[in-house]
Amino acid sequence: MESVILRCDEVTVDFDGFKAVQGMNLTLVKGELRFLIGPNGAGKTTMLDVICGKTKPASGKVTFGGGSVDITRKKEHQIAELGIGRKFQTPSIFASLTVSENFEIAMKQNRGVFAAMRAKMRAEDSDRIAAQLEMVGLAEKAHRRAGGLSHGEKQWLEIGMMLLQEPEILLLDEPVAGMTDNETEKTGELLQEIRKTQSVVVVEHDMEFVRNFASFVTVMHEGKLLKEGSMEDVQRDDRVAEVYLGK
Ligand code: ADP
Repeated sequence: MESVILRCDEVTVDFDGFKAVQGMNLTLVKGELRFLIGPNGAGKTTMLDVICGKTKPASGKVTFGGGSVDITRKKEHQIAELGIGRKFQTPSIFASLTVSENFEIAMKQNRGVFAAMRAKMRAEDSDRIAAQLEMVGLAEKAHRRAGGLSHGEKQWLEIGMMLLQEPEILLLDEPVAGMTDNETEKTGELLQEIRKTQSVVVVEHDMEFVRNFASFVTVMHEGKLLKEGSMEDVQRDDRVAEVYLGK
């Protein structure tokens, strides 16, 4: 049986009387790569904010790990520690450090950033970092300054840094925005690789990317769930076509 790793029940978010999300339900199972799509202002980013604890819902419930932990009112750092990693559109990397130095810090971040800079590396840490560099395609750039990487490479660096903290769920907001076609393709392959060990939720506007890599899609509109299913099902839905795909 598929095991549920995240559940959002009847989540409503109210910004001074404006309901950005209204009674939204979302269930994620282990090892899933879920795309969250919908027109601008549909409430997608707000949902990611609710899951990672940045925004508190007015009502509803968010549970992590098959319903065992209620995270609705937990603080952002507590949710991160439980194993939900959030990546924003702008990468938070240390531009003046090398790629591998960034990874070293990420590896030890639970000790605090400055303690992490001073802490000694262990042999197993180096192996883990080498494997992660390989996975995100930055092995040959390990000694380059992070600030000098291409836009796509910076995104992969940050994804790699998040993975070193071993989250169970990764939340990504438009990871391929601004990427070249080649970088977009590589990112899709990377996400397929990541889902072998983690669950991933991706807010995405690039429909071609979604078509190529999505197995399951959730469509939001005006803060609500409009449709859920395979990309084929979703594309066939008249309401989706009307509000979103412009057909
Ligand atoms: P999406 O990611 O689907 O484009 P968002 O979740 O960013 O949509 O936004 C949903 C709606 O909530 C939008 O109308 C947006 O203007 C509004 N909104 C988002 N954040 C805030 C905020 N902090 N204060 C007030 N309104 C907000």
